[in-house]
Amino acid sequence: MKSYIEWHSIIPLNMARVGNQPLIVLSEESQRTSGRDAQSMNIMAGRAVAAAIRTTLGPKGMDKMLVDTSGSVVVTNDGVTILDEMEIEHPVANMVIEVAETQEEEVADGTTTAVVVAGELLKNAEDLLDRDVHATTITQGYRQAADHAQEVLAEAALDVSTDDRELLEQLAQTSMTGKGAEGAKEQLAEIVVDAVLSVYEDGEVKTEFIDIENLVGGSVEDTYLIEGVLFKKNPPHENMPYHLDDANIAIINGALEPSETELDANVKVSDPEQLQEFIAKEEAEVKAMIDHLHEIGADAVFCLKGIDDLAQHHLAEYGMMALRRIDDEDADRLARATGATRVNDVFDVTEEHLGFAGDITRRQIQDKERLFIDEVENPRASTILIRGGTDHVVDEVERALEDAIGVIATVLEDGTVVPGGGAIETAVARSLRDFADGVGGREQLAVEAFADAVEVIPRTLAENAGHDPIDSVVSLRAAHDGGETAAGLEPNTGDVVNMEDDGVLEPLRIKTQAIESATEAAVMILRIDDVISAGDLSESDDDDDDGGAGGMGGMGGGMGGMGGMGGMGGGMGGMM
Ligand code: ADP
Ligand code: MG
Repeated sequence: MKSYIEWHSIIPLNMARVGNQPLIVLSEESQRTSGRDAQSMNIMAGRAVAAAIRTTLGPKGMDKMLVDTSGSVVVTNDGVTILDEMEIEHPVANMVIEVAETQEEEVADGTTTAVVVAGELLKNAEDLLDRDVHATTITQGYRQAADHAQEVLAEAALDVSTDDRELLEQLAQTSMTGKGAEGAKEQLAEIVVDAVLSVYEDGEVKTEFIDIENLVGGSVEDTYLIEGVLFKKNPPHENMPYHLDDANIAIINGALEPSETELDANVKVSDPEQLQEFIAKEEAEVKAMIDHLHEIGADAVFCLKGIDDLAQHHLAEYGMMALRRIDDEDADRLARATGATRVNDVFDVTEEHLGFAGDITRRQIQDKERLFIDEVENPRASTILIRGGTDHVVDEVERALEDAIGVIATVLEDGTVVPGGGAIETAVARSLRDFADGVGGREQLAVEAFADAVEVIPRTLAENAGHDPIDSVVSLRAAHDGGETAAGLEPNTGDVVNMEDDGVLEPLRIKTQAIESATEAAVMILRIDDVISAGDLSESDDDDDDGGAGGMGGMGGGMGGMGGMGGMGGGMGGMM
């Protein structure tokens, strides 16, 4: 499908001229698009990305089903996941996708918001370009507006006490609203807050010590938090206990095997007696190892290396449990969780090195053996075990939990939140319009365009919830004019309500980061007025249609309800 761009405007680069001199730089396949055409093409590509995920925004946002070339399916509401799965190759579209990726890295939540704002900044810029406002004027206005928006955000931020458990749970719930996890969000919010608090020390959240495991089966409500660690293996010896109460835990970096076997030594024996002696010595050594562990009071032993048959046998005799060949990361988390210290050599382990867990249990869940190290006294690492009816459900719950974990971590670190439901965006837009009056020249138009762009969030929230976007925005503006700075949109009724009272809050950083990345991307795209590409942009389109049907093409066809996307997708297709 041809894009809106007139193809004749693409001049092969080898015909470009500098003055009278023909300038031959690149091969004949190279292409060049300049001026207004290049701007339109780029804006369209950027907008297409935003259009692709717009309908997923908010508590009433819809999900997308993405089918890749191999037929594997992802059903999600998560902005960055959708964009990643779409495998978009257009360079400008990718600049917008980077907005989502930065957001994901910085806060984990707010990816759709950031991209939708970026798309709207581009759309409004296009209108200004049509009215002959120069791109530089627009970018300057946008930059000023973004700076002002950051000030408004900082002023509007509410300080929260990180001890306010109820508020933390509300924040986690808000970030999961509208996702596959919504049905169990109260319970999941509790789990998320517990998990994040367990790894919060000295003002920093070490999310790497929260392990998320999933196991298909049961329902989302069966998801639970293990205050400790989960191993995907079980003790090697069948006579080892299935359950331990109040267990002391030893973690050994080495092996529970005779030391020689480690080195693979060649032992020369001349007569059978000598061999007997040698074996007896080895056996005695192994017995001494286990005796030592038993004496210092270890109940469960975790080895990074092997545990030989004899050692297993002695451990089982003592009623001890053991796991062998656990990986390094798990060993670290186990040490953090239980307070154990990792020791290299078994004979160096003392009582002080032992950790503690109130409950160690082997469980069989859906034919899968799992060992739970639970009820540690002061968990500094924890594990969330996600349950759910199908693979798709657990995957989507996992994505929602990751967002919520990011939100709680951000709030614990920053201690600042803003009202959601489009409240903060309405406040920012309102202040920007006042600010625009003081900005002279045509840049004022750009500042106003920026204000309108930020308001795309309440507009879209209304639209996705089936309310009239114009009515909603008008009511929101009226409420804010009346001094109700926390007025936002209640998605079920479409009423304007106080979001603070409703407990719909989000970390400030979601919004500051979204404005920052969206502005940067829009400015970068708008500053381009010349696209020179080595190779034929229109030809690579054909490759895309064959190979990447799961990408944009698939989206356009599969999701008729995506508004402008069908047309956009076609337009983009033409350019890729
Ligand atoms: P993002 O990827 O940007 O986080 P979401 O689909 O998670 O996108 O939607 C986030 C938006 O939904 C935010 O503007 C947030 O304020 C809003 N929101 C979430 N829960 C509610 C709620 N209960 N009432 C109103 N708005 C809500
Ligand atoms: Mg979100």
